[in-house]
Amino acid sequence: MKYILWFVFACTSLSSYAQKFQAASIRKHIEFLASDEMEGRGTGSLGEIRSANYIATIFGELGLKPAGIDAGFFQPFQVKYSIEGNLHQVTGRNVAGFLDNGAKKTIVIGAHYDHLGKGFQGSSLSPDSRNKIHNGADDNASGTTGLLELAGYFAKNNITEKHNYLFLAFSGEELGLLGSKHFTDNPTIPLASISCMINMDMIGRLSDEKGIIVSGWGTSPVWGKLIPELAKAQNLKYTVDSSGVGASDHTSFYLKNIPVVQFFTGGHGDYHKVSDDIERINFDGEAKILTIITGLLENIDKETTDPQFVTAANPHTGNRTTDFKVTLGVMPDYSYSGKGLKIDGVSKARPAEKAGIQAGDIITKLAGKEITSIYDYMEVLAKHEKGEKVEAEFLRGSETKKVSVTF
Ligand SMILES: [Zn+2]
Repeated sequence: MKYILWFVFACTSLSSYAQKFQAASIRKHIEFLASDEMEGRGTGSLGEIRSANYIATIFGELGLKPAGIDAGFFQPFQVKYSIEGNLHQVTGRNVAGFLDNGAKKTIVIGAHYDHLGKGFQGSSLSPDSRNKIHNGADDNASGTTGLLELAGYFAKNNITEKHNYLFLAFSGEELGLLGSKHFTDNPTIPLASISCMINMDMIGRLSDEKGIIVSGWGTSPVWGKLIPELAKAQNLKYTVDSSGVGASDHTSFYLKNIPVVQFFTGGHGDYHKVSDDIERINFDGEAKILTIITGLLENIDKETTDPQFVTAANPHTGNRTTDFKVTLGVMPDYSYSGKGLKIDGVSKARPAEKAGIQAGDIITKLAGKEITSIYDYMEVLAKHEKGEKVEAEFLRGSETKKVSVTF
């Protein structure tokens, strides 16, 4: 669950600098990863295995060291999920490549490469989604491409940076951050050697109006110190979310007390639908974001100390932390600007799902309080304990529904 505080800075500087990243190269990777041959990269599927091979082959060509298990690039893990009520077990695999600069500390650069496959796993929002390929061009062929581009840049720049870089492509994200959780529970490099983690999830739809959304802002003072200038140089507006806990893999690292930052170009109507295709990707926009991330990594190297970890406070209400005792287990829809809390997805076996709340529903009242925004929702959460029962009112289409929710 995210706590969002939208600080919007409109940057009007017209300065720009030469792009390090080429739209054509970005397009080539997204074209491959979001092609129908990859079958939507469902966790454990043949399409996902082929995508993993593509990533590992590029890591190998760049001379990265394998950082999976058994001297290979892959870190496999078991995943259980149910299809039409039956529990299945498949193997997901993280892909890990290490750029060894002989440094003590390593920066993890991550992106999930799995998506919803053919709609049998994860949370498709397309009606009649079964057996339809969900290409996930923005979610997250775009971030995976960012990972490949950054690996290429740092492997070929002939500079020995003051940090090593671990490039991690996660599987199982759509099923609940499973790949990143497996990695942080079974790290292939010591967790204590990780300086910070940079995540890219959905960076393919940059628009001037939305700009970039930067999460994890409150997990280290270094982000606020370095990112504003870099965004300005790219003439990009940005919005920040202070929490280290969110709907992507940076969360797994934050929960191990590692500073995290995530880049995101915002929600859209094709999110988790079969229509998330390459046609709407902004390749030049992604190149700008990668230039910002490169600048961030170069500037971290110039700092005299490593990024300091801070338990992200909740700036909306002072210094209270965002560790609530209860949540509904829902993911908010960031592109929704109307009244209420619109739900993008519900976690399995959590209070919202148990009460029958679904993706697409808009929560308007919770525990007697009118919910006009995510802030109202967080306020309610802060007042409740596990096991307590409250009433929730929500809109499904034009219908108002009432359910009882047990935290
Ligand atoms: Zn994603």
